[in-house]
Amino acid sequence: CGIVAYIGSQAAYPIILKGLKRLEYRGYDSAGIALYGKEITNFKKKGRVAELEAWTDDITKTATVGIGHTRWATHGEPSDVNAHPHKSNSGKITLVHNGIIENYASLKQELIQKGYTFESATDTEVLVNFIEEIQQSNNYSLEEAMRIALKRVVGAYVIIVMETGFPNRLIAARKGSPLVIGMGDGEHFLASDASPIIEYTKKVIYVNDYELAIISEDEIILKNLGNEPITPYIQQLDMEL
Ligand code: GLU
Repeated sequence: CGIVAYIGSQAAYPIILKGLKRLEYRGYDSAGIALYGKEITNFKKKGRVAELEAWTDDITKTATVGIGHTRWATHGEPSDVNAHPHKSNSGKITLVHNGIIENYASLKQELIQKGYTFESATDTEVLVNFIEEIQQSNNYSLEEAMRIALKRVVGAYVIIVMETGFPNRLIAARKGSPLVIGMGDGEHFLASDASPIIEYTKKVIYVNDYELAIISEDEIILKNLGNEPITPYIQQLDMEL
């Protein structure tokens, strides 16, 4: 399983698709990509990453921001519906997740009582709606809502999140699952390991547990869950493709 994301000025889809193929060695049962064009559009399928090549809408040529995922099912069988990315009930938040939300069942009960509905059997769809509920009921920014949500989440995760209305921003976070950010010239690459990144750049930041990365084309802001800024430690990879 793995995640890949891109934000910059190139077409995101081919970069993400290729990156997911580089992560195939980790094993997976489903794959999906969400792209931010005029709006956020999602394409996800049970089966091989190659199935995503059936996505031929214009957005695959024009969108310059996107997130991709290969899934190793932990909660809910391998299926198109359970594949990532997952959207929140309002449709505003779209997220990919590797890992497990251990307390998803109690969070799901809370959300159902508040009127949330679920189309998948995943712990991930609980997380995206948990973030949305905190954001909407407190009028918080996505970043604030993620910080609060992640403090209440038990388990391991790496997530990358897109939000409608914010086409030039990804927010990533991790605990217990790896996340690398590759720094290009006016573009950033995110992935579970460096293999999808090294052909574009060798300048990388390894995000640490309990950190949030707010990423645009030309900026990376790292913070801890207490909202304190963290100075990124930029490393030069010495590996070859
Ligand atoms: N727990 C999530 C699911 O079952 C993510 C699994 C993964 O790491 O791919 O959908």
